[in-house]
Amino acid sequence: MNDSPAAMPDTADYLTELNDGQRQAVLATEGPVLVLAGAGTGKTRVLTTRLAHILTTGRAGPGQILAVTFTNKAAREMKDRIAMLLGRPVEGWWLGTFHALAARLLRRHAELVGLKPNFTILDTDDQIRLVKQLLPGSRLDDKKWPARAVLGAIERWKDRALTPDRVTPAEQAHLADGAILRLYHAYQDRLLTVNACDFGDLLLHNLTLLGANAEVAASYQRQFRYILVDEYQDANVAQYLWLRLLAQGHRNLCCVGDDDQSIYGWRGAEVGNILRFENDFPGAQVIRLERNYRSTGHILGAASGLIAHNRGRLGKTLWTEDEEGDKVKVRALWDGQEEARAIGEEIEALQRHGQRLGGIAILVRAGFQMREFEERFLTLGVPYRVVGGPRFYERQEIRDAVAYLRVVHQPDDDLAFERIINTPRRGIGDTTVRVLHQAARGQRASLFEAARRIVETDELGSAVRRSLASLTRDFVRWQGLGADTGNAELVGIVLDESGYTGMWQADKSPDAPGRLENLKELVAAIAEFPDLGGFLEHVSLVLEVTEGDPGDMATLMTLHSAKGLEFDVVFLPGWEEGLFPHKRALDESGVSGLEEERRLAYVGLTRARRRADVSFVANRRLYNQWQVAMPSRFIDELPPAHVEVEKNPSQFGRTQGLAEGAAVWPIQARSVAGGLRRRAPGDTGAIAVAEAQDYAVGARVFHVKFGYGLVTAAEGSKLDIDFDKAGTKKVMASFVQPADRAG
Ligand code: ATP
Ligand code: MG
Repeated sequence: MNDSPAAMPDTADYLTELNDGQRQAVLATEGPVLVLAGAGTGKTRVLTTRLAHILTTGRAGPGQILAVTFTNKAAREMKDRIAMLLGRPVEGWWLGTFHALAARLLRRHAELVGLKPNFTILDTDDQIRLVKQLLPGSRLDDKKWPARAVLGAIERWKDRALTPDRVTPAEQAHLADGAILRLYHAYQDRLLTVNACDFGDLLLHNLTLLGANAEVAASYQRQFRYILVDEYQDANVAQYLWLRLLAQGHRNLCCVGDDDQSIYGWRGAEVGNILRFENDFPGAQVIRLERNYRSTGHILGAASGLIAHNRGRLGKTLWTEDEEGDKVKVRALWDGQEEARAIGEEIEALQRHGQRLGGIAILVRAGFQMREFEERFLTLGVPYRVVGGPRFYERQEIRDAVAYLRVVHQPDDDLAFERIINTPRRGIGDTTVRVLHQAARGQRASLFEAARRIVETDELGSAVRRSLASLTRDFVRWQGLGADTGNAELVGIVLDESGYTGMWQADKSPDAPGRLENLKELVAAIAEFPDLGGFLEHVSLVLEVTEGDPGDMATLMTLHSAKGLEFDVVFLPGWEEGLFPHKRALDESGVSGLEEERRLAYVGLTRARRRADVSFVANRRLYNQWQVAMPSRFIDELPPAHVEVEKNPSQFGRTQGLAEGAAVWPIQARSVAGGLRRRAPGDTGAIAVAEAQDYAVGARVFHVKFGYGLVTAAEGSKLDIDFDKAGTKKVMASFVQPADRAG
């Protein structure tokens, strides 16, 4: 332990680069400190410098400082920045996200909560699979409570540090009469059995083990002499309790945050934690920073004017010595395609003036908005990356929907068919799929063809057979809809009749509405292509481009994931009522929902260093229907002095023919079949092809399921057989072999 006076004076270089308030926050190493300050005031910089200061003055070693960042990326950046400040890399950090740090601690003491140290951390897919396994025994109606919704309820409890035994009767009453809570118990039991935990558990187990083992808690309380936390406004209750527990020893806890940037209320973050800080840590120093170093005057003025419309805020002023710069541009455009085109042109112009692409970001409110930009970027050849989520065509629901279309277009597309054969659930399980594969191999046919044949036999149980027969009939009908039906209409029919749309409509999880929006956006995308083949070709090419070019790239991301970041130029498209503020936030959470949306707008504007461009369109196309859009109320709330409204008459009001958009794609000419065909002719040579004519009527054969029997009729790939034990059945010829060869 090093309690000796500072090994270095408090006049180091890094301190001279700070303003008074920042320096005060860095030097106030002892005791609880809350830095409550607006965007771009150097909170993160304070935290980094403080960390370096504690290290260089010998107050603590890296292993004695616990530093919490909001993302793993931020943790890496912080390590790099400190290595630079110190002129050497540092090992032995406890620096990372809440989850990463909690996982590390839990690994050391796993057995105290009944886990082994090598426990698995489940991802969302695993979690859902686990809930699905438990649903049948839970008496829950899985129409009302699909796995995702159940999981959502469990996760909200975990956000609030409620283990199953802590959930009060009042809490669970509206959740299926306590059935969800019972499932929560079962879910936790199951996790222990399989030596696994989910993300929420990482913190919850920490709380449990530190709460129940005083010596362990005390050792960490001694170890962590200094605790530092970035983006504190978005900590949830479990995270807050964890910090409070670990800070008990030295009480040197420094949290930095901005109540105006709290945007994770829907995920359990509590701004109240900021207010609670002074109560829980009496005598805490509260430091406010007011000078913004990031943005020009107009950008800051616009953002401050906007956020002033929120009532529930602690309130603060921000100023900058930076020049006024360009006003925030507000632009009206005709539709989403125009918007993408206009922003694409701006980006090209910026590039011509020497702007790096890496300094440019487009920040959207909803994931579906990305699609038009991605396509525009591809057309223009602008390298881009999507941060914090999959690209549009990589999303689960889009891949599912595209898989349906691939089968309609090309029934032999086995991968596509297998993907959706039981999505939505229609009782076609893995066993059936294995049987289908076997049949397909035996007949050198596609899965789809094998399915069509097998449903005319007795190979499958009657329920599965009915279900599979109805699916293959549907596909044949959709294929027959042909040219008379427009593409967009066809997708609508396929997704509705297959039950795929219905599956997400019935889904109560928080991400289901977003997925439905993406599906609607898919319909809009298809309408831009003359035919289905052209569209599918486009999709496979878009996916192909995905692989890496790590060079200079523009960034496309949601407003939520942009927190803490900064860019020279920020584009903020889609500022329309219903989209931003998002209708769902208003419907579900009223005024508080609106205020969270406004904070999101504030986060967006304050990411910009030199330029922020807001845009809205007059027409949004949703589900291939044009909707007249109203400019967002946030646009009216921007103070006019900081805003320049640009109406470009040549763009605004110009209608766009769909065909024109479609003609832009340079990829139409390439063939579709190549990418999608799964089986080249002749490459199945090793597999014997069994057709019914290989068996004469009267031949004695063996079938794996039904045993021995005599062939009574043969037709195509099917045989009628009179089995010794099972009676008369129709079976696939590929599933039998001559009796004399059966061993
Ligand atoms: P946010 O609320 O968006 O997370 P923040 O308060 O964490 O913002 P930082 O990211 O730390 O702000 O700083 C914003 C920008 O201002 C950074 O580019 C940072 O390097 C710069 N900056 C901060 N303080 C100073 C200073 N004293 N002198 C010069 N530049 C500074
Ligand atoms: Mg920051």
